[in-house]
Amino acid sequence: ALTIGIVGLPNVGKSTLFNALTKNQVLAANYPFATIEPNVGVVNLPDPRLETLAGIFGSERILPATVSFVDIAGIVRGASEGEGLGNKFLANIREADAIAQVVRGFADSDVVHVDGKIDPASDMETINTELILADLETLDRAIARYEKEVKGKKIGPEVLAAAVEAREVLQAGTPLSASKVDLAPIAELGLLTAKPFIYVFNVDEAVLTDDARKAELAALVAPAEAVFLDAKIESELIDLDPADAAELLASTGQEESGLDQLARVGFDTLGLQTYLTAGPKESRAWTIRKGWKAPQAAGVIHTDFERGFIKAEVISFDDLVEAGSVLEARSRGKARMEGKDYVMQDGDVVEFRFNV
Ligand code: GDP
Repeated sequence: ALTIGIVGLPNVGKSTLFNALTKNQVLAANYPFATIEPNVGVVNLPDPRLETLAGIFGSERILPATVSFVDIAGIVRGASEGEGLGNKFLANIREADAIAQVVRGFADSDVVHVDGKIDPASDMETINTELILADLETLDRAIARYEKEVKGKKIGPEVLAAAVEAREVLQAGTPLSASKVDLAPIAELGLLTAKPFIYVFNVDEAVLTDDARKAELAALVAPAEAVFLDAKIESELIDLDPADAAELLASTGQEESGLDQLARVGFDTLGLQTYLTAGPKESRAWTIRKGWKAPQAAGVIHTDFERGFIKAEVISFDDLVEAGSVLEARSRGKARMEGKDYVMQDGDVVEFRFNV
């Protein structure tokens, strides 16, 4: 599964957030045979459509899609030079598919800030500079190796060219995600600044309810997505029953928990989407990549479904709800038979037809 690595300076609330994510552990309940890594937090992707489907089909259970977060320890200034514990953690981030940077926005004189003051812009700059330096170091080593391999005709010149071009971008202080360099030839390097980024502002209630301040912080990181939450409140929410949790959320001016927002933004940032299946046993969301065609999507349920794919009966969620049943949707002409070139759309309720 694709994972999102959590990074940030020390004392910004990474562990508090990650504990909330792991307390929210859903994998164990839904997938009893899956093994859970201790440093991975798996959260449900909230999707109210599943409840609706379960109502229509009388499903016994609901299985939402999930998003996985990996806890990676803090980065300090100098991490890219191997100061402190830096290098090992940078190596761990390399394996993540996206990065969530936790930024401290809460003021609390009992919690020391590593750089002595609460300054989100400066904190982000510190982290992003370390990531750029780490990528430069990776590229320096790779370029030395690629030069030999190109001479020895072991690799094509385009690999070296891509690495050199990427190095120039970074030397100008630009993260690779903000450049147009084609990194496909050097994908093996797992360059950190090329990964999709989410910013998680760990703030207190004063900021949560201050839309102007939130807009200001969001503008600092655009076009990357910003999520605002209070890690302490999130860890309390997990222990409350739904009614009390809703009340606590409302008291901080929110409709949705920060973890739910993070799951949604994370899922989207990873380039993922879902399609839905429903029946008396379960209503379920299946995870695919945006742009996938029907047979590939069918393969997520079972490889036989992809191999023996014939067609997919697709009803849009809204059409199905309006019709009230599959039969009625069919008689209204809202059930479409789609072939192997059909590109899956968000909210498709699907039944695959296949040969075994
Ligand atoms: P990490 O080093 O980034 O993992 O930070 P921790 O999660 O260990 O948090 C550092 C300290 O800040 C702990 O004492 C937390 O209880 C506290 N803390 C974390 N999040 C918040 C928050 O949202 N508000 C306040 N007031 N304190 C927080």
